[in-house]
Amino acid sequence: MKTVTKSSKLANVCYDIRGPVLDKARQMEEEGQKIIKLNIGNIAAFGLQPPDEIVQDMIRNLPDAAGYTDSKGLFAPRKAVVHYCQEKGIAGVTVDDVYLGNGASELIVMALNALLDNGDEVLLPAPDYPLYTAAVALSGGEPVHYICDESNGWLPDLDDIRAKITPRTKAIVVINPNNPTGALYPKELLQALVEIARQHQLIVMADEIYDKTLYDGEVHTSIASLSDDVLTLTFNGLSKNYRSCGYRAGWMVVSGDKRHAADYITGLNMLASMRLCANTPGQLAIQTALGGYQSINDLVAPGGRLARQRDLAYELLSQIPGVSVVKPKAALYMFPRLDPKIYPIEDDQQFAYDLLAEEKVLIVQGTGFNWKTPDHFRLVFLPNTDDLREAVGRIERFLAHYRKR
Ligand code: PLP
Repeated sequence: MKTVTKSSKLANVCYDIRGPVLDKARQMEEEGQKIIKLNIGNIAAFGLQPPDEIVQDMIRNLPDAAGYTDSKGLFAPRKAVVHYCQEKGIAGVTVDDVYLGNGASELIVMALNALLDNGDEVLLPAPDYPLYTAAVALSGGEPVHYICDESNGWLPDLDDIRAKITPRTKAIVVINPNNPTGALYPKELLQALVEIARQHQLIVMADEIYDKTLYDGEVHTSIASLSDDVLTLTFNGLSKNYRSCGYRAGWMVVSGDKRHAADYITGLNMLASMRLCANTPGQLAIQTALGGYQSINDLVAPGGRLARQRDLAYELLSQIPGVSVVKPKAALYMFPRLDPKIYPIEDDQQFAYDLLAEEKVLIVQGTGFNWKTPDHFRLVFLPNTDDLREAVGRIERFLAHYRKR
């Protein structure tokens, strides 16, 4: 028999959040071992349920939601997204500019597939949310990573961005609030990014899926609200702010000057049509969520469950010798640094593997986020405070052994 091999298009595609260390964790669970999972932002799995009104509306709508819809989605939820854009100050958005998807992920892949020819470059943050690097590579493009500066609260380094622009650069991805660092970008920085995009005629791809998961009273600025000329695709959805990853409900909004982008928009429409439509119950959930009670605010307010968990994880990790962490202002993650002088890690996937095997704690290694040096890891602060205390205690014990190796 001829061997069946994967497509060469997958040669540079990697998605370590669901990689080999997770396979090992699954195997351990099948053997009956209990693992503390700090590896994935699957909110509902930690007892943080979606707002009840979304669940109730889903149940009520289900019998009438078995049909396909328009490829871009139903009118009413898209209209709800238009209102959302108005609230965020994004000018000139009509229902026509809104695409609903099976999560933001599908739309991100679609947007890159519709844009890139072989060899086209896209600027992506390092560390990144690895879907972007994988999707650029799958589309035939070249991921080019710009540095986010840990010593400056993980904000993008504008000089590094400028230095990496070439005639083949087509777009820049801005993940704000950021996964994996928890950074929230100030308006001035976003304005500078818009200016770079304007000067070099780059499309801005703005991932704002954590735009309501903000601590300490912080406010989020949509980069699309800062220009009405730069072509901007804004991605968002229900997965995080509404704790409903499994409903696979997301949206993409095209804003800015679209007159010169008619051909690209035809491409987007073509890909939207090819996958027929987003799941209809998820589309209807968008309508309920955006018009409903914003219960995420209770979770992120001082004393709210997510705020308490963030504070605890930050405090405990910061006390471990050789570990430093930038306190997240938003989202569900932190990206601690392990001082290489104290922890001379050569292979951080092996590090994650050993931590799992020895202490039954699952994290994701920093290189899984296209961070080049093996000196970081991502931790999700979704477990309750007891579990977090236990998990960070085990990490500390593991690191103490590691120092003595
Ligand atoms: N964008 C970022 C930055 C994320 O962290 C995630 C999920 O973790 C997604 C997109 C995926 O979102 P969705 O569930 O809507 O596909």
